[in-house]
Amino acid sequence: MSDYLVKSTAANGMFRAYAVDATNLVNEAHRIHDTWSAATAALGRSLVGTLLLSTSGLQGQGRLTAKIQGNGPVEYIVCDGDAAGNVRGYVKNPHVNLPLNAKGKIDVKGAVGTEGVLSITKFTPGDKTPYTGEVNLVSGELGEDFTYYLAQSEQIPSAMGLSVFVNPDETVEVAGGFLVQALPGASDEALTKLEAAIKDLPLVSDLLREGKTPEDILKLIFKDDELKVHETLPVQFKCDCSKERFTNAMATLKPADLQEMIDKDNGAEAVCQFCGKRYQFSAAELRGMIKYQQMNKD
Ligand code: ZN
Repeated sequence: MSDYLVKSTAANGMFRAYAVDATNLVNEAHRIHDTWSAATAALGRSLVGTLLLSTSGLQGQGRLTAKIQGNGPVEYIVCDGDAAGNVRGYVKNPHVNLPLNAKGKIDVKGAVGTEGVLSITKFTPGDKTPYTGEVNLVSGELGEDFTYYLAQSEQIPSAMGLSVFVNPDETVEVAGGFLVQALPGASDEALTKLEAAIKDLPLVSDLLREGKTPEDILKLIFKDDELKVHETLPVQFKCDCSKERFTNAMATLKPADLQEMIDKDNGAEAVCQFCGKRYQFSAAELRGMIKYQQMNKD
């Protein structure tokens, strides 16, 4: 089945809630980057967290980039998401495997590290300066770190759960998550009830493995508390890289560096970090870039 995200409100509009099944897209990320289990779980959770942020906090053509830079062996993770449900991402060191943690789960905290920074940069079309919010990592398990970001940087009381289950053959069996946000006017009583429900909620990966859907997960959180589904959005791993973009980036290199590529390799190859796509540049194209730079200098 295809991945999708559900947007809802609950408890008479006191909460906004999102749940997503992102199994295919996390598996796609694993395939593209050849990630090993701990890196798969860390990148997968980051992709799901980014999707929950981008589909809940952006409008129209807005985009955001989440960067997690910790002191663990994966080093850093970068994910981009948009409001339409597209996400892409990569991890600096994809080949990270660790012993299971004390709970018998993949040690995401061990892979990411417990010290470091989560930063979110938002790009709004027509707005020249992107907005960046940054928080220190509080856990390294990522769900808590995204939650802390929302509370600190955006002042939105939230709860986020992120979870990935990796098969013994390294493929992804399930991946998904939820995000619940309290809206102004949420009563203390409703908040207490919600906190208890989230505490009792099994792992999203366990629920998805049982065949539960994103709608089922929201129903488990809110029970019979007036859950209203407003939108169901297909979500996918999608990279919007192009030769044109790489040309623009290459054209900013120093003429001496471009010349070296011509002399040494008779051209150049650029690889997209997000999706692994390769773009070839001929010596003639590189010479054109040098010429263009010289023309604009005079
Ligand atoms: Zn790409």
